[in-house]
Amino acid sequence: MGMLNLNDITTIAESLNRPALAITQPRCVRVRNRNASCGRCIDACEAGSLQVVDNALELTLSLCVNCGACAAVCPTEAMLMLEPKRTQLASDLEALRVYYARTRDLQDKPLVIACARQLSRFEGMQERVVGVPCLAHMDVPLLLDAVTKHPAGVLLVDGNCATCKLGWCSERMDAVVGESCALTEAALGGRSSGEMTVKRASQMPSHVQRKTGEEEFDSTKRSFFSNAADEMKLTVLSAARTTLEEKLGGNQKSIAEQLKVKENGSLPQYPMPQHMEALDALDSLEPAPDAQFDSPLFALIDIETERCNACGMCATFCPTGAISRGASLPGTRTVSRLDFLPCDCVACGLCEDVCLKKCLHLRHDVTAEELFSLDPLQFELGANASKRTLPFA
Ligand code: SF4
Ligand code: SF4
Repeated sequence: MGMLNLNDITTIAESLNRPALAITQPRCVRVRNRNASCGRCIDACEAGSLQVVDNALELTLSLCVNCGACAAVCPTEAMLMLEPKRTQLASDLEALRVYYARTRDLQDKPLVIACARQLSRFEGMQERVVGVPCLAHMDVPLLLDAVTKHPAGVLLVDGNCATCKLGWCSERMDAVVGESCALTEAALGGRSSGEMTVKRASQMPSHVQRKTGEEEFDSTKRSFFSNAADEMKLTVLSAARTTLEEKLGGNQKSIAEQLKVKENGSLPQYPMPQHMEALDALDSLEPAPDAQFDSPLFALIDIETERCNACGMCATFCPTGAISRGASLPGTRTVSRLDFLPCDCVACGLCEDVCLKKCLHLRHDVTAEELFSLDPLQFELGANASKRTLPFA
């Protein structure tokens, strides 16, 4: 059996009628509140496999092509690609980085990440490349993590998007690459970065091509990779069975149950490990306090406190707990202050969408000092606050 290619991956996923991704419904802001305006995953999915139906985000299995675009743009990490899992991809990238760092002739060369279409015809040194079904699986935090740890940069090699059935992802990939480079530059603030940058190409670079005299090694590696391909198919099959069993298990809580309001008056809140990965990567570059990150990944809020009536919708629906009830009026449960921690905000926009008085506004021009501060911004609420008691409190 030959090496696993894009057709293999999509055919396996489709023939097993298996979702290529898992959705954690209560993380999705559209599920948390019907007034949410986010639809980034739906916009990113040109296969038309995602839609919101009856307050749930639904995937049409037969249309999903496992490009990964939806998961990469979701601010709340509501989607998990299953093949490959993002954690697996991150650990493959880390292994590649270590391999490059330990190999003298690779230390000043970019890490190579290639799509399955490119890999299916590649006969060079595969151990120098990490493969993904489509480059749209790469998100900004993954790229930031790689590029800040490997100053020679990252090269994304496509299989010629212009003729690929997943070609719609190309434009979005350009945006992800641009975003990663802009954030790195902002954190470095003009300090020398070497080649600490993400680039794209449609041809494999010379440092992963095989030189003459390596035919014997070549055939060994070929057999290694054909075995690996078989392994991968088995893994896909076994993952599919597990998913199916989980689906049939019948022990799933309904979305309404999962969205039960907690004692502190908020819907369930979630850690955002990918968001933290991006923060860690930028922090490792030791940005100046006034370095400005103008990015859709991060946000600050402004509250017109004199108009706010302390309805508390923002804190109730925030999926991360970035906004919280800071203090109550003495002897009451009426909120008198809202706290906001920028590093916990994933800029999903839900707080702005649900604000009944339209007095909360998001902005994206966040400085490093604001982003990395562990002291929350505090909004003392105006006289109107005392007239309302928080719902659910
Ligand atoms: S929060 Fe994520 S899953 Fe929900 S609509 Fe936005 S992008 Fe899609
Ligand atoms: S503070 Fe607002 S934009 Fe930030 S994570 Fe919470 S709801 Fe989303």
